[in-house]
Amino acid sequence: MYQEIVPKMYLIKTGKPSCQSYLILGDKMNVLIDPGINQNFEILKKDLKEVGTDINSLNMVINTHEHVDHFGANIYLHDKVPIITHRYAATKIVSADDEVLLCRAHGHDPHGYHVHVWLENMNVIDLGNWFLKIFHTPGHTSGSLCIYEPRKKILISGDTVFARGTISDISSSGSYGEYINSLARLNTMKINLLLPGHGKISSNVGEDIEKAIEKAGRKHEKFLNQEKMSKNYK
Ligand SMILES: [Zn+2]
Repeated sequence: MYQEIVPKMYLIKTGKPSCQSYLILGDKMNVLIDPGINQNFEILKKDLKEVGTDINSLNMVINTHEHVDHFGANIYLHDKVPIITHRYAATKIVSADDEVLLCRAHGHDPHGYHVHVWLENMNVIDLGNWFLKIFHTPGHTSGSLCIYEPRKKILISGDTVFARGTISDISSSGSYGEYINSLARLNTMKINLLLPGHGKISSNVGEDIEKAIEKAGRKHEKFLNQEKMSKNYK
């Protein structure tokens, strides 16, 4: 299933347990963001065909972070298309750190993945009519990134920001402190459209981020209190 969000930019939903994928057909290059989980790859291929393209027309795949529901289908793409992600995600993907990747939990082998380009915060990918700024936004995982298009004011947020301020889980490589810092940083940016890895897209982004900061702050506090209590018992 797909939906054209803005001209030549598509939301692709292959269904659970995959994340949502985004496809940009740029003037000069075509980019797929988060191809989803391994077992949904045939659905992804079908959706790309319906959009009028295919995996052979892709010039790059960007992963927003190192969770199998976002990068698993790379296994069918990495011999054909360069795979790009933040270097903290890349290290875990190439070393099969399944404590973070969660491949086995979904019945997949964590070994054998390649990442061709290891990104740093503030790298830019220029597709001609799309200018993709990479923001390292650790918290949900240590390698989480968001992709910001400054001219269109669009944020592709992976599992870092969701509509209505739903906050993400903090997984083994993440932390609340980093998560709150990342949200605060995003909150300084002008964003008109939020394209998250799961759930609804949103045009109420300032409010979404404010709510998320508040909720994450409360959860963090609770977490710290539990830590304190468990120390007192020792
Ligand atoms: Zn995730």
